[in-house]
Amino acid sequence: MTDVVRLENVTLSYGEQPAVADVTLTVGDGEFLGLIGPNGSGKTTLLHVMLGLLEPDSGVVELFGESVSSFDQGERIGYVSQRATGRAETMPVTVREVVRMGRFARAGHSRLSEEDRAAVDAALATVDIDNLAARQIGTLSGGQTQRAYIARALASEADLLALDEPTVGVDAESRDAFYQLLESLNERGITIVLIEHDIGVVTDRADHIACLNTQLYHYGDTESFVESDALADAYGASGRVVRHHH
Ligand code: ADP
Repeated sequence: MTDVVRLENVTLSYGEQPAVADVTLTVGDGEFLGLIGPNGSGKTTLLHVMLGLLEPDSGVVELFGESVSSFDQGERIGYVSQRATGRAETMPVTVREVVRMGRFARAGHSRLSEEDRAAVDAALATVDIDNLAARQIGTLSGGQTQRAYIARALASEADLLALDEPTVGVDAESRDAFYQLLESLNERGITIVLIEHDIGVVTDRADHIACLNTQLYHYGDTESFVESDALADAYGASGRVVRHHH
């Protein structure tokens, strides 16, 4: 089966020091990858590289087996950033319209069929916000807004969901329900890459862990991560010091 994401020796610098150095990893089809590391360790940068939003200085980046530079199936990817809530507040559109946008991306034209409309309704129902469909997106709570963006990804039949600290500012109860939703979407076969600062949440839900502090300290299944020293090593390392492994 084709890997969803493949990174090989990826390095990216904003200035002189690399923010991400020599990262090699693959995200397999159906995987739930937790991307963890201290503040400023390059997690968002690496996620943006994975999605083709940032071009690395060197290395190979592939999405669904295709070089990211020629990848043009954006509808296969749903991206929920921690700043989604702030942006949504200024958009004069309803929740249903946001989700319909995902369906337009999939359908490739501006008219939705009966089937497309059913897919929009199903997406709203899956994330349990069908009762909010007529609301302006800007009036939703943080957790509801994140669900609306997930629904948009579901409507476009995204195979990969990439989430950057999606529950910042979301209350504990909604947060738990949100992670249960992610788990059930993953059980339906959607590949998930999640940045989350709460390591317990990640080790409870993810089947694979990438532990980063500029360089990768661990990439593998969650069990081997928990048994390793990678966490202490990555969090104990002074940022941006690159150890060379030969
Ligand atoms: P994390 O997501 O783990 O907090 P980031 O990927 O946001 O880490 O940042 C990694 C490093 O790169 C940090 O030192 C940050 O200050 C720096 N950085 C991030 N974005 C930029 C940018 N656009 N320009 C310059 N430096 C940046």
